[in-house]
Amino acid sequence: MKIFNTLNNRKEEFVPIEEGKVRMYVCGPTVYNYIHIGNARPMIVFDTVRRYFEYKGYDVNFVSNFTDVDDKIIAKANEEGVTAAEIAERYTKACQEDMAGMNVMPATTHPKATEEIDGMIEMIQNLIDKGYAYAKNGTVFFRTRQFKGYGKLSGKNLDDLEAGARIAVDDEKEDSMDFVLWKPMKPGEPYWESPWGNGRPGWHIECSVMSNKYLGKEIDIHAGGEDLVFPHHENEIAQSEAANGTAFSRYWMHNAFLNINNHKMSKSAGNFFTVKDIAEKYPLQVLRFFMLSAHYRSPLNFSDDLMESAKASLERITTSVFNMNHLLKNASDKEYTDADKEFAAQIESFKANFDAAMEDDFNTADAISSIFEIVRLANSYLSSDKPLALINDVKQSVVSLCNVLGIICEEEEELPSEEIEKLIEERNEARKARNFARADEIRDMLANEGIVLEDTREGVRWKRV
Ligand code: AMP
Ligand code: ZN
Repeated sequence: MKIFNTLNNRKEEFVPIEEGKVRMYVCGPTVYNYIHIGNARPMIVFDTVRRYFEYKGYDVNFVSNFTDVDDKIIAKANEEGVTAAEIAERYTKACQEDMAGMNVMPATTHPKATEEIDGMIEMIQNLIDKGYAYAKNGTVFFRTRQFKGYGKLSGKNLDDLEAGARIAVDDEKEDSMDFVLWKPMKPGEPYWESPWGNGRPGWHIECSVMSNKYLGKEIDIHAGGEDLVFPHHENEIAQSEAANGTAFSRYWMHNAFLNINNHKMSKSAGNFFTVKDIAEKYPLQVLRFFMLSAHYRSPLNFSDDLMESAKASLERITTSVFNMNHLLKNASDKEYTDADKEFAAQIESFKANFDAAMEDDFNTADAISSIFEIVRLANSYLSSDKPLALINDVKQSVVSLCNVLGIICEEEEELPSEEIEKLIEERNEARKARNFARADEIRDMLANEGIVLEDTREGVRWKRV
């Protein structure tokens, strides 16, 4: 499997640290507002990467944080006259709802910055002890020039950076390239006690600490949007490698940005959509399908037309699966003819193409094309007089390949009304016969199908919930 590694600027064969395991960290959102569709891109892309690894049999330990203390959260809290914790809690919950809607699997661990402050203080102290950081009047800075590898991810050079930097008059810093690990409290802001006085951590230290705690000193993959390469990820490398004395992450993956109508997404320009805005117009799986229709390292343009076309494409797949389910009801077991065998072999070759596309730096665009090839062939070849096993295999192939992409293409069949009526009738009989065990069993069975029963004077009523 090949992954484009930002660290070396080329596609590289993936070799995990531990065979069969993937330790992966994805920088999560700052929870000060509803997430926008740009934030949704890394969530969907790296969830798909995770799903592909799992499909290939890897055991994936996937960590993604919520940044729940930050200037923007505090500003929003002040605006609304509530606590920062309230803002963070509200938007973490909203984000989790959106993720579920987009079929993004919950991470193995979703650490929150405010719950990991002790670990951050410990790492900062470790950096001070090793000479990589210093405290000045309640602020702790990272001594950037002390870390020799600085710039290796972004390809930036400290002297160029310094020359291009605005001359910020910051008396506290030894060097203008130093960055903050701990900042002193300001009135009205949340704070924690520390050896350097009350205050709160800088943003970068959070990910270094959480990655260390939940995944270990060295991890396989660290990921996020391309805007995080510099300074966030560069600073994470400096902190982690300086503190641990080992390499940090083997592979660095970055998704390109999502634009709207060919412009940068911007609230003030009015081209800005939250995931919740989109959910009012489309099932969120359409958004997911749209995001995966481009390679993650290509910029992606969002527009109504493109969403409509993603919706139509996705429907071609779901309709084909629906039709195959219908054929299955009337098909029977049969020997495969030579033509059936040839057809089955063609399907297998498209499945292999899907894998090959995913193995090539997760080319979901080409992977989706392979699913369409299967659908096209199935639509033209299959009928109810073909062998049941053949139809079933093709259907299962489409369903499982879609699953790798986190796309659900098969509606769960609802229990038909007549079945429900029959079961209710049976339950009535059971109760009359004082067979309460059976009556309860039927009630539970229906509850599992999302059907609740109400005893009324006119008899038993049922409804779907
Ligand atoms: P933030 O909450 O700003 O830290 O962003 C959370 C994640 O969303 C980061 O990985 C960002 O790189 C990513 N992100 C933000 N805006 C966009 C965008 N327009 N397109 C793609 N990714 C984005
Ligand atoms: Zn991070």
